[in-house]
Amino acid sequence: MGPPDSIERFLSPGKGRGMRALRDVKLGELLFTCPAYTCVLTVNERGNQCDSCFSRKEGLSKCGKCKQAFYCDVDCQKGDWPMHKLECSSMCTYGQNWNPSETVRLTARILAKQKSHPERTPSERYLTVQEFESRKTAVL
Ligand SMILES: [Zn+2]
Ligand SMILES: [Zn+2]
Repeated sequence: MGPPDSIERFLSPGKGRGMRALRDVKLGELLFTCPAYTCVLTVNERGNQCDSCFSRKEGLSKCGKCKQAFYCDVDCQKGDWPMHKLECSSMCTYGQNWNPSETVRLTARILAKQKSHPERTPSERYLTVQEFESRKTAVL
């Protein structure tokens, strides 16, 4: 177990969900951090930034299969593979015509992650992605 939480989630009647500190905090103090649930490189940056760590650099290596995903090195490629494998084959099939928006790609990644990680992830410590979905459904 990590250190005790400094913040908690609460429900404010009529206003919705909120987060609040459980102790005095210093100005600028970091109270919570977590990895992104999932992410995707924006279309315009393809080839300029690594598809895995998003570092901007020259001479990124292409995915050997689709040649449309770019990485710093083998470690970055391996790190992105659980997500990129979902897209790599269609990138190969459609080649330069494969051009969905980052919103479409991100949605696909969220759905794939929900399927492969039905349990709560570290990113969902205070709010699950499922809860976002139920809220959206309630509004619609
Ligand atoms: Zn990288
Ligand atoms: Zn690929």
